[in-house]
Amino acid sequence: MRKKIVAGNWKMNLAYNEAKELVNSLNQYQYPNQNITKILFPPQLYIQQLMNINSQFLIGSQNVSQYNNGAYTGEVSATMLTSINCNYVLIGHSERRHYFNETDEILIEKVKLALQNNLNIIYCIGEDLIQRQNETYLKHLSNQISYLYNNINKTDCYKISIAYEPIWAIGTGLTASPNQAEEVHAFLRNEITKLTSIEIAENTSIIYGGSCNAQNAKSLFECANIDGGLIGGASLKTEDFYKIINSL
Ligand code: PEP
Repeated sequence: MRKKIVAGNWKMNLAYNEAKELVNSLNQYQYPNQNITKILFPPQLYIQQLMNINSQFLIGSQNVSQYNNGAYTGEVSATMLTSINCNYVLIGHSERRHYFNETDEILIEKVKLALQNNLNIIYCIGEDLIQRQNETYLKHLSNQISYLYNNINKTDCYKISIAYEPIWAIGTGLTASPNQAEEVHAFLRNEITKLTSIEIAENTSIIYGGSCNAQNAKSLFECANIDGGLIGGASLKTEDFYKIINSL
């Protein structure tokens, strides 16, 4: 059975005290469904201290370097994350692709190092508004996912979850409808089947991200191929994030 995942991507938000407070307040709730993997992606600076809080949440890294070690000022490597027992990493977020020029080629280097260091990866893909409007989005998504799976070993696939994040929905308040999201998730599962095997595809979690909130989460999570969510803005609000987790 594939993993159900709800992850909060805090991006570059919150001072340290606010970050601690958010973890503590989220931790005061009881989460009835113990089968949901709950992950927070805080700014890297806070990872280790937030991991020290005895909470119900795993802590992951929003980024990882494409290099292993050396003279790369400001970077954090996969080896470093593993050395502090940080086991999850986001790779391929559209903001990293867009603002930091991370291409598929760079991202695959990150993926390879993350896998070598035994990290679990949430790999983000998604189309922009023009690709959605001119109906080339499935082709674009097929290219993104093929590049990933064509460059890794089948034996590593179980370490990878996919986040489908339409760029036009991220931080815009525009959400993909359940039908739009399910169309893509089913398509991606089929693509993964072709690129790997039915067994791998059926066991790969594909989560949705893009203005998912306490109101729309349930209708998205009810879809057969949506295995959870990657949540940006709403993950900074305790009650909203709690409701989203319980919508799964
Ligand atoms: C994200 O950045 O991964 C995201 C889904 O953001 P938001 O929920 O704010 O659209």
